[in-house]
Parts: sequence; structure tokens; C-alpha cells
Amino acid sequence: MIAVLKPGVTDRQIESLKQWLEGQNLDVHVSKGKYQTVIGLIGDTDKVDAELLESLEMVESVKRITEPFKSANRKFHPDDTVIKIGNTEIGGDALTVIAGPCSIESEEQLTEIARKVKNSGATVLRGGAFKPRTSPYDFQGLKGEGIRILLEAKKATGLPVVTEIMNVNHIDLFSEVDILQVGARNMQNFELLKELGRCGKPILLKRGMAATLKELLMSAEYIMAGGNNNIILCERGIRSFDSYTRNVLDLSAVPVLKELTHLPVIVDPSHATGISRLVEPMAVAAVACGASGVMIEVHNNPSCALCDGAQSVTPEQFDKIAEKMRKVKEALK
Ligand code: PEP
Ligand code: MN
Repeated sequence: MIAVLKPGVTDRQIESLKQWLEGQNLDVHVSKGKYQTVIGLIGDTDKVDAELLESLEMVESVKRITEPFKSANRKFHPDDTVIKIGNTEIGGDALTVIAGPCSIESEEQLTEIARKVKNSGATVLRGGAFKPRTSPYDFQGLKGEGIRILLEAKKATGLPVVTEIMNVNHIDLFSEVDILQVGARNMQNFELLKELGRCGKPILLKRGMAATLKELLMSAEYIMAGGNNNIILCERGIRSFDSYTRNVLDLSAVPVLKELTHLPVIVDPSHATGISRLVEPMAVAAVACGASGVMIEVHNNPSCALCDGAQSVTPEQFDKIAEKMRKVKEALK
């Protein structure tokens, strides 16, 4: 349930309304917009007397949120969520460019890629340390050593870093990682999501390969229900009947999610297509349809990559893609 307050309501009035509602065993979420404040109520709202609430002098209207996702709902929080990591902003007007290798392979490999993508304008460095591989015989990542190398690259470049967490028991290893990624295969690992709800760090939540947008938002809701509102949603392609590309990039997910939620939405054209030459057009299209950013796999020697070489672009190709995305972003202003 949400209560939209009249313009000009004072902080003191908001506070007393908040206390009154909290006294009814509800979680109260205050979202102060440019012009109006929205009070979001979570809990057993069936017991709330909506007419009484609406009759209050400071309240303009009261609506029930019918969708099952509440905290993630744009009605609950009309302004875009902007996540701040040091000087980097994700969401709102910012263009987030996450770049780096699929897997961290060595210190030399990551340092070289990190330096180059930073020079090309990347705002976040990625690199997998724990890799979810279809085959147990494939390279599984450097694990703890990979995280150590990633943190070295963070220190050397000053870029915030993102890497995937697959197991709640590993969380201590991630204490200096800026953004924790939940991969497509773990989008509905509810125990992991609940734990991440308690950790307070920004979470990059990827859409499961057969997940509906509602299911993606319900997974975000799991994290938010634990008190962590710093979530970036990522469209990374879904399974369909055509096997030409690795997945089918659902770009319409971007404007749909932007209607439904205030959370930033980014696109991963690398896993979506699986083909390096398709990364540029899809990255540019993602920015054109309103994505808050992209995540691109970049490798200094794609043909020798230990994972996902076919979809990895070189630092030189990435430089051109980043430039094109900035131009599209500028043109949309
Ligand atoms: C990744 O980003 O490294 C990854 C494994 O992606 P996804 O979970 O989308 O397959
Ligand atoms: Mn990959």
C-alpha cells in the first residue's frame, strides 16, 4: 500500500505519520521525490484503514499495490534508485560501463585488461573468480586467489569491482568487493538472496535464463526484504528456440522493467549473444532503449581465454564500443 502525501508536507508531519503507521506493525518506507513524498507500507496492510489514512490532512491519496513485488515497485519509489560506490553512480542519468574478462586467469591478464578498459571509459571492473560452468571438468575459476587479484586491480586502477558469489559460505572472501553478482543460474537461490539482503552491499542480479520479468523482480524483492535496496538488474538473454545466438536478448525487458521498478537496469550483450561481433550492436541498442549501462566481457587474447572467448571483445574493440555508447547516450539527452 502507498500513501502519496500532499506537496509541502513537513518532515515533522512525515515523522509523526511514520510513527503512527509503525505502531500498526508495518514496515514504513519514505521516498521523498522532487515534488511529493510517497510513503510505502509493507506488512499486513489488510488491517490498515485506508479511508482513515486518506482522510488525513497531509495525505493526497492511498493506493493498494496489487503486484507481488512491493519494495522494488516504481509506485513505491517513483524516482530512479541511484547507487553510489565512491564517486561512481549507477542508475539515474549515469551510464555504467562494466568491463573485464569472463574469468580472472592471472595477475598479468587482469592488470592489462583493467588498465585498458579504464582508459576507454569503463566505470566498473568485472572478473569471475568462482565460475558457474556447465561441465565440472571445465575451468572453475581461481577462487580466493582470483578475488585477491581482482582487489589488486581495484587498487591499481581505482575502479570499483564486481564478481560473482555462488555460495553463502564464501561471503567473508567478498568483504572488499564493491558489487556482488548473482548469476543467472542462481537468480532463484533464495537462501543466497536472503543472505545478500543482510549484507548491505550493492548486488548485480542477473535474470535467469528462463525467468519471467516478474520472477526477476521477486528475486530482487527477496534481497530488499532483508533491508538491502542496492540492486542492479541485468538482462542477459533468455533461452528460446533459435540457437544461432547463445541466448535471445530481450531488449524490451529494459523499458518494461523501467516502468515496473525504480532499480537500475543494465544489459549484458556478451552472454546474451555469445558472439563477439554482435556485442557492439547490442550494447549500443541497449543504451538506445534506456538501459542504465552494460556489462561487456573483454579479453586481451580472446582465442586463448579459459572461458567465453567467443563472446569476448578485445580492448581495442571495447574502446570503439564505449565511444559509440557515449555518443548514443549524449544523443538521447
Ligand atoms: C558471468 O557474468 O560471468 C556469467 C556467468 O553470466 P550469467 O550468469 O549471465 O550466465
Ligand atoms: Mn562469461
